Amino acid sequence: MSDGALSIEELIEAVRARGVRPSVADHLSTDVSLSVKSIEGVRAYLDALEPHDVARGGEFCWHDPLWRELPDELAARFTHRLGSLHAVRIPGATHPLSMFHRALPDELTPAAYMAHHLDDLERLAAEMPVDILAHPTLLPLPLRNLPVDELWSDALEERLVDALFRADIAFEISNRYRPHERLVKRAHERGVQLSLGSDGHTGAQVGDLAFPFEMAMRVGAEESALFDPYVHGTRASR
Ligand SMILES: [Zn+2]
Repeated sequence: MSDGALSIEELIEAVRARGVRPSVADHLSTDVSLSVKSIEGVRAYLDALEPHDVARGGEFCWHDPLWRELPDELAARFTHRLGSLHAVRIPGATHPLSMFHRALPDELTPAAYMAHHLDDLERLAAEMPVDILAHPTLLPLPLRNLPVDELWSDALEERLVDALFRADIAFEISNRYRPHERLVKRAHERGVQLSLGSDGHTGAQVGDLAFPFEMAMRVGAEESALFDPYVHGTRASR
């Protein structure tokens, strides 16, 4: 119901064919172009999912107000909720910097950007009632091709995994925005649960957990370290 290509029925069928339990997590945000943008829209989204045997997730943007306005009765109908940094506040700027903007503001170095990124990440973890941090390594377009070590220091990685651990929020191993192994290992060793996510939008992508699963195994995660929405979600009353 946002930017995915499949109906609910088609998604369930494609995911089950891979031997994976289906889960839907549309964009629920006023600041994503193709998304569910209102409380009434969220209600209709949950109404549409409930007749199906599918986990009811939703991806909310930290910088967008919709998640703050969600009534408890609607929040309680999700099996799990995801929080995302799709834009980060830059002190002195009029608008948050979108991850899909093609340029960094003048004189903002990658290191300075990363410090602001972690500041917002810590606020998200402390305030947002979500179960999973979606794609923890999604960064602004101009930074995406820089080497991991120019972006992520030990100190920044520690801040990220500590914030998630304190808030009991799982780390998504996204198949779309793939995290580096050192960070996944650090999250796992800190005691942060790992969530396997395809971030799929098409029939070829939905439910493809081969990379996330392989990464989880590579860092030594047991099944009990994996987030299961039916066991560990949702945080409606948090
Ligand atoms: Zn996202």
